[in-house]
Formats: sequence, C-alpha cells, structure tokens
Amino acid sequence: MDILLAKHAGYCYGVNRAIKMTLDASEQRGGPIYTLGPLIHNPQVINKLTERGIFPVEDIHEVEGGGIIIVRCHGIDPKVILEAKNRGLRVIDATCPYVRKVQDKASLLVREGYFLVILGERGHPEINGIVACAAGEHIVLESADEVNNLPRRRKVGLVVQTTQSQSNLVALVSELIKRVGELRVYNTICNATMLRQRSALELARKTDLMLVVGGRNSANTTRLAEICKGVNAHTFHLETAEEIEERFFQEVGTLGITAGASTPDWIIEEIVQKIKVISSGAPELKHGRAL
Ligand code: SF4
Repeated sequence: MDILLAKHAGYCYGVNRAIKMTLDASEQRGGPIYTLGPLIHNPQVINKLTERGIFPVEDIHEVEGGGIIIVRCHGIDPKVILEAKNRGLRVIDATCPYVRKVQDKASLLVREGYFLVILGERGHPEINGIVACAAGEHIVLESADEVNNLPRRRKVGLVVQTTQSQSNLVALVSELIKRVGELRVYNTICNATMLRQRSALELARKTDLMLVVGGRNSANTTRLAEICKGVNAHTFHLETAEEIEERFFQEVGTLGITAGASTPDWIIEEIVQKIKVISSGAPELKHGRAL
C-alpha cells in the first residue's frame, strides 16, 4: 500500500504563532496562564498544554487580577479585551492576522453602509468575534441554501469565515447577485485553508482511502473531511491513531492522509506509524513532506 501525505497539511501560520506566543508567555511567567477558550480545536494538544500549566477558561472572571490571559487565533469581542485589562489582567492577543483582516473588512462594510453578510458557522468563536468587531446590522449564513433569510437590502457586503470552502462562497455569491442592487465581496478565506483544501481534494481524487486527521471540533478539519468525501466516499475523519481499524485498509492500494490546520505533526506521525504496523510490509511514503 502506498501512503501519500497531502502537500499542505497540519499546523498553519496562525496556529503556530498562537502556540509560540502562549509557550513563551508561560515560560516567562513560570506559573499558570489561561487561554480564553481552548487555544486550538485539538483536544490532544489542549491536554499537553494543560500539563504545562496552560489552562482554558470560558470567562475572564475565572482568572484572578494580575493573571495572564491569551486571546486565541479565532479572535474575540474587543469589549472582552478591554474588560480583562480593566480587571488587571495581562492580555496577550494571539488573534491570527488573517482573522483580523476579516474583522477589519466587516467593520469597513458596516461603516460604509452595507448590510453585512458573514458566510460561516453560526456560533463559531471566529464568527462571534467578527460580529462583535463589525458592530452593525448583519446576518450569518451557513450556506447558499439560507439565502432566503436575507432581509431586503439594496447594499450588501459579504465576508467569509477564514476556513470556509471556495465552493460555498461561489454558491452564495451567485445567489446574492440575483437579489441585491449592490454587492461587495471580500474573499477572506485564508491562504492556508485554500492550500489545505486544494491539496486534500487533489489527493482524495487519486486515492482509494482518505484519512482526514484533526479535532472533531475543528471547523477547518471538518471542512477538509467534507471536501474529501465529496469526491471519495471512502473518507474517514480521525482524531488519533487509536481510531484506526484494520478494516479501513481492505482492498486499498493507495492511501491519502491530510490534516487540519490545528493538527500537530506528532499526531500525523503516530497515525503513519500505526498504519505501518497494521499493513503488511513497510509502506513507502511518497510525495509527502518528511515526517
Ligand atoms: S487557518 Fe488561516 S486564519 Fe485560521 S489560524 Fe490558520 S492561518 Fe490563521
């Protein structure tokens, strides 16, 4: 069995940056520090961070004055940052610059009188942060199927959650064009997402089995799994090597592996090792990055 690893898979720039900022702060502090929500959507990484004294909290009120609180890459309502500072907390803002760009474009559209449409997952922390930053009339749509929920407006501006798929965006834009007088679109899907989706799709098309690795609570990993499933019904979304079963590999000549932007290399590596043990003979790793 050949194993092919997607050219772009695993940690992205924003996640690497947030983890580095958090570890640096933890080292300097030499005591517990807190992240507002899990730092990334990967339970295994969160467990490792907790072992190092980095704890997720749901609310700034759970942290005593003088403590350090990290804003994760999804961003947050600026009022929460202000309140944390007023409570005497040190805030380290690890909002990904690409998420910041969506927040800025959304605010710009509101300031310029556009009714704001955000294409993304309702309730996702990134979307909540964008809505809070824009502070204006808006609607969140999860897909083009929901376009009938859009109130009648002449000027509509659209931004997109960084982890959305290009096909969702294209479908929504083609519906909006039919309904509004003026449409301004900012394609704010981030480059890391686009590269991961493109290489996952490429791999899913030419393999017998696709394994998509990453947290089940990770929006970008779930999207990768959906994309792969669209072209390869034999696709599984896994969090860890423990979930691998021998039956996956029956009649599989070529196996593809991809991973979300919040999946560390060590989890991908553990999965490849487990497959090597299960399959007869040592499989060759082709085209992939060195593990
Ligand atoms: S997926 Fe894109 S927007 Fe999200 S953290 Fe990574 S680089 Fe930033």
